[in-house]
Amino acid sequence: MQHVFGPVPSRRLGQSLGVDPVPPKTCNWNCVYCQLGRSAPLSNRRETFYPVESIVAQVKNALTLPVHIDWLTLVGSGETTLYASLGELVNAIKVLTPLPLAVITNGSLLHLPEVRAALTRADAVLPSLDAGNPALYRRINRPHPEITFDRMVEGLTRFREEYSGKLWVEVMLTKNLNDSEQALGEIATILRRVRLDEIHLLAPTRPPAEPWVEPADEDAFLRAAAILGEKAKIIHATTGEFSVTGPDDLMDSIRNIITRHPMRESEIIETLHQWTAAAVIEKLNWLAHTGTIEPVERYGIRYWRGAPTKHH
Ligand code: SF4
Repeated sequence: MQHVFGPVPSRRLGQSLGVDPVPPKTCNWNCVYCQLGRSAPLSNRRETFYPVESIVAQVKNALTLPVHIDWLTLVGSGETTLYASLGELVNAIKVLTPLPLAVITNGSLLHLPEVRAALTRADAVLPSLDAGNPALYRRINRPHPEITFDRMVEGLTRFREEYSGKLWVEVMLTKNLNDSEQALGEIATILRRVRLDEIHLLAPTRPPAEPWVEPADEDAFLRAAAILGEKAKIIHATTGEFSVTGPDDLMDSIRNIITRHPMRESEIIETLHQWTAAAVIEKLNWLAHTGTIEPVERYGIRYWRGAPTKHH
């Protein structure tokens, strides 16, 4: 299993080396905007899916390659905090390198003391908050029934009390779901109570799980920035260059990137510039034929993403 990918240009973290500790689409939410497709089945069980040592060995190897890295980022092809040995993994990475470490999470398990403790040494934690009331939370994030809205908010509040690193909350703005004055006002009321460092306003820029989901428009971003106050930042999509670490094989490179990070076809061709465009397209079609990846059109642009997988 390949756990390390990138570095990929991140909207917040510069050149970010991704470290993925969970199996594909292992998540306790099933967000309508998820770029990984639908979660099937929803899973809320924390497990050590892979030994810490095998993930750390891959990180160690990637750090020897001659590529520029700004951040290491724990970002799952699912929910990172479902990895039961998260604390051990975070600590092992911090011993390995002085580079800053970020953890992307949906924040749903921050009510668990062991999850909060596991994140102590991370330099930044980026949880989500897309809704300010339980009904909208269920509509957008479609959580596992064990994760109630109140628990999630309580977890975020308690985490801030204990955690001294950077806390950046991510709000994914989707058209007609959470971009109204009322929906944004409710989110603002909750976030005012949490002493967070920044609020990141994002739009789904890659094909969402549900085709009817649309990114909020420019007006909505400005509205959100005004309502959420000075901590809110509008995060625009990057246009930076992707680089590839790991296996030289074209097929592996394509698979490793696309299954975690759906991309525009043109971006894929650019990223893999050591091969010709024709060779890349031929392999994309071949991988689609084997059921590993699939093309998808959104807003007139052709993307490629991992084909839905069934696990367990
Ligand atoms: S967007 Fe993140 S939290 Fe939501 S379903 Fe996808 S992997 Fe899970």
